[in-house]
Amino acid sequence: MENIGCKGCTATVRLTQEEMDKIFGETMRVKNVKLVTEDEYNNRLDKCMSCEYLDYGTTCRFCGCIVQIRAKLAGSGCPYPYEPRW
Ligand code: SF4
Repeated sequence: MENIGCKGCTATVRLTQEEMDKIFGETMRVKNVKLVTEDEYNNRLDKCMSCEYLDYGTTCRFCGCIVQIRAKLAGSGCPYPYEPRW
């Protein structure tokens, strides 16, 4: 299912890889952030990439998070209601 975009904000919610890298770097500079292993990160992202609730290839429709960031954080989880996917 292809999502053509948010009716309210369209292109402003689409992130380039460069923008994601910048956000990622800023997030990882925060003190005491625990990260998952690379294997766990890839496992989580695989599930997001095949999830029907992922918009624009970056954004979880349930929480509005950029999954490439959320999946890296050890303390985070999938917000899918009642059945988290990771
Ligand atoms: S965090 Fe969960 S609900 Fe959101 S896109 Fe990923 S798998 Fe889907």
